[in-house]
Order: sequence, then structure tokens, then C-alpha cells
Amino acid sequence: MNKFSKDDPVIEVDGLNHFFGSGDSKTQALFSNRLTVGPGEIVIMTGPSGSGKTTLLTLIGTLRTVQSGSLKILGQELNGMSQSGLTKIRKNIGFIFQAHNLFGSLTAYQNVKMATELVGQKSGEAKPRIEQLLTRLGMGERIHYKPKSLSGGQKQRVAVARGLIHSPRIVLADEPTAALDEESGRAAVTLLREMADRDGCTVLIVTHDNRILDVADRIINMVAGHIKNDSDIRETEKICEFLMATEFFADLTPRTLADVANNIEARDFEPGDAIVNEGDDGLEFFMINEGSVTVQRNDKMTGKTETLKQLDKGSYFGEVALIKNQPRNASVIAKTRTRCYVLDREEFRAVVDTSDSFESELRKAMFERN
Ligand code: ADP
Ligand code: MG
Repeated sequence: MNKFSKDDPVIEVDGLNHFFGSGDSKTQALFSNRLTVGPGEIVIMTGPSGSGKTTLLTLIGTLRTVQSGSLKILGQELNGMSQSGLTKIRKNIGFIFQAHNLFGSLTAYQNVKMATELVGQKSGEAKPRIEQLLTRLGMGERIHYKPKSLSGGQKQRVAVARGLIHSPRIVLADEPTAALDEESGRAAVTLLREMADRDGCTVLIVTHDNRILDVADRIINMVAGHIKNDSDIRETEKICEFLMATEFFADLTPRTLADVANNIEARDFEPGDAIVNEGDDGLEFFMINEGSVTVQRNDKMTGKTETLKQLDKGSYFGEVALIKNQPRNASVIAKTRTRCYVLDREEFRAVVDTSDSFESELRKAMFERN
């Protein structure tokens, strides 16, 4: 894989949409999803039936064509990729899907062996590994049984072995343990954990099986076509804490606070970045969570830039233009690395309307600043 280094994200989803059907019956199954998974990470995805989990998994697995947005696997963009490119990528992926699709005429061993042939592994090398893997999954006695002589759980274990035998860089599993008893389910996820820790294998598991949640580095939730990232949830919690410590939001109920926090976007700036440009329309309100900024104005007579003040962590800016519906009266430049919490105009207005403390703080600020 060109330019791909071992610490880079293995799965990078950004602005990914997906639609089914066309014309009047066209429906959207995925909405502007974002997800980054690194090497050696196990991510569990949960969410109600019909929320888009399988759609996302099959897109990541190159089994569906990316229609809109960006999806990178091992650093390569799938959107617009040729069939031969997709086939190459697919060799790095192991699939464990609900419908096991084992070949009825082949034994457990032969079914697993097919997966090694597809990636060009030699039969002699593969044999001991296949036997070892099937044994590990508790199928040692039944290596040469055909699917019709195997129970549902046993077939599923063959499917697990088939998905893992070629040591894929990525494992995509859709309800891999649903048909398994506690012990074989545990054996399967322990195996995945080992592959992640030892080989840096990246694992994405769709599951409702709460017996295996402990194997995950991260748990994400899919709701109506939207990924609710756990990191987003943590970020929202941090934003809530930040807001609670601000006088502005003192009289917001926890519920409103959480709503506001949900609508806030955290944005990072490097030193020298212009966060707000004098003369631009004011569309957003900023609170400084980390770092310092300089507020400056251009003197039209002399053409010189005049520094008005420095603002630090806990300060805010951008409210004047929002309230007065005027262009920005100054520029704001990041002085250090700065993280801002950004609220758009509508959200800002909604908060102003519900919070007396917010309004009175703002009035004070407007008075001081103009
Ligand atoms: P989940 O795996 O979370 O149960 P899916 O990804 O299977 O959800 O489905 C998400 C949505 O897309 C559902 O509304 C489903 O009806 C729809 N959908 C999935 N596959 C197809 C398809 N092949 N054709 C039309 N609609 C589909
Ligand atoms: Mg599904």
C-alpha cells in the first residue's frame, strides 16, 4: 500500500451518505457519517435494527459502491475506485457475516481453505493453521464434517475461522456471536483481541451481544443512519462541564445544557490562524476552551493593525456581530494552539432566549466592548 504507514488510520469515513432505491422510493440509509478507526482497535457498533449498521459495514468491506462522501481503507479512497482496486483492497479484509454462506459440498476444513486460496496462500502452509484455528474454536472434532452435519453454532464457528484464516488487516463482523453459546463466543472474541494486539488487526463488530462488550476499545452507536461516536459523547460531556463552569449558562437546566453541548462544535486552530475576519458576516459564537487569541482591528486611516486585547481560556467572542446582525468589527487570530467551542447563530439565539444569565452577561459584555 503506497504511502500508508502502520500508525495511520485503517478506516476513515468522512461525510459518508448512502441511498437505496431511486426516484420517489429513494431513501437515505446513511447520513454524513464520520468514523476513524486505527490499527489494533476493536470497535463495537450497536444500534436498533434498520439503523444502517450492515449498510456501513458492507460499504467499508467494498461489497457496496460508495455513492457519496469519502471512505478510505488503508489510506486508499474507495469512492471512485476501479473494480480491480476494490478487489485488491478486499484481500486485506476478513468477513464474518450473519448468513454464513458455507459451501454445502465442502467440509469445514475445505470451506476455510477456500479463503486461503483466494489470497494465494500455499496449501502446505495453510493446513496446520486451518487445523489449529478450527481446534481453537472448538471444532477440532468436526474438521471434516460438512455443514449439513453441523449445528448453527458450529457453522458459525467455521464462518469465523474462514473470516480470520488469511490474517486480514481488517475484520468486519456482523453479529458474529449471535448463534454461539457463551464459551464459543468468548473463544471467538478472545481470538479477535489477540489479532488486534499482536498483529495490529483492526476489528469492527456489529453486535447486540452484551457478553462481548468488554473486548471493545470503543463502542459506537448507530441511530437512524447517524453514527453517535463515543468520542463525541465524551466531547459533549467535556463541553457540558465547560459550560457549567461559565456564568453564562448558570441557569440552564441540565437537559438544555446537554442540548446546547450537542450542538456545539469543537474546532482547533494553529497559531496565526484567523478565527474571525473583520468585515465578514457574523455567523458563529466562539468560546475558548484552550489557548489564547488576539483581537485586532485594522485602522482604515493608517492601514495599521491595532491589537485590542488578548482573550484566554474561558473567554468568548463573536457575540456582537450575531446580536446586531452586523459584519465582524474585529479580527480574531489564534495566538497559541487554540480550541474553540463554536455555536452557530440559530443555536446561539435559542440559548439567549432561554437563559436569563446568558442574556445579562451578554448585555454586560456588549456594554464593555462597544
Ligand atoms: P441494520 O443493519 O442496522 O439493521 P441496514 O443497514 O440493514 O440496518 O438498513 C438500513 C436501512 O436501509 C433500513 O431502512 C433498510 O430498510 C434499508 N435497506 C438496507 N438494505 C437495503 C436494500 N438492499 N434495498 C433497500 N433498502 C435497504
Ligand atoms: Mg444488519
